[in-house]
Amino acid sequence: MPAIATTHSLNDYLKLPISRYREQLKQGNAKYIEVSYTHRNKPYQYSIQLTKTSCHYGGYRYWWLCPQCSKRVSVLYCAGLYVCRHCINAPYGSQLQQPIDRVFSRISEIRVRLGWQQGVIHGVGAKPRYMHSKTFDRLVNEHDKLSAQVWQQTLDKLNCTH
Ligand SMILES: [Zn+2]
Repeated sequence: MPAIATTHSLNDYLKLPISRYREQLKQGNAKYIEVSYTHRNKPYQYSIQLTKTSCHYGGYRYWWLCPQCSKRVSVLYCAGLYVCRHCINAPYGSQLQQPIDRVFSRISEIRVRLGWQQGVIHGVGAKPRYMHSKTFDRLVNEHDKLSAQVWQQTLDKLNCTH
């Protein structure tokens, strides 16, 4: 299974170190950072979740939570969406049959039915009280598959433009 790293080094990716937001993070108790940028003529705008750990001599150190795998990292890399180096290097290659726009709109439909906040970035929510567990499981399964496709397609596209 080919990995993206076989043809690209991490240096080829635009980096987003958490340290760039040091001043902003000093201001208060940030839970996420809003990013907005253009990548290959496509505009992106979303929030990236943060976490913090206590420093030995007081204060906190902030980390990104990778939007794809939730690993705690200090640098994210731009593959369309920002992901951690583990995700950049992850093997991919499953079939991507659905056009990305249709995948996005189906994800959005499912999230509405589940009463979840819009955007894959917000992760999974709870089961609505009125919904049967069977229906809920089916929708969550589909949601998981579709969001995996979104990520793979994003990474795949990046690899193919060279
Ligand atoms: Zn990751």
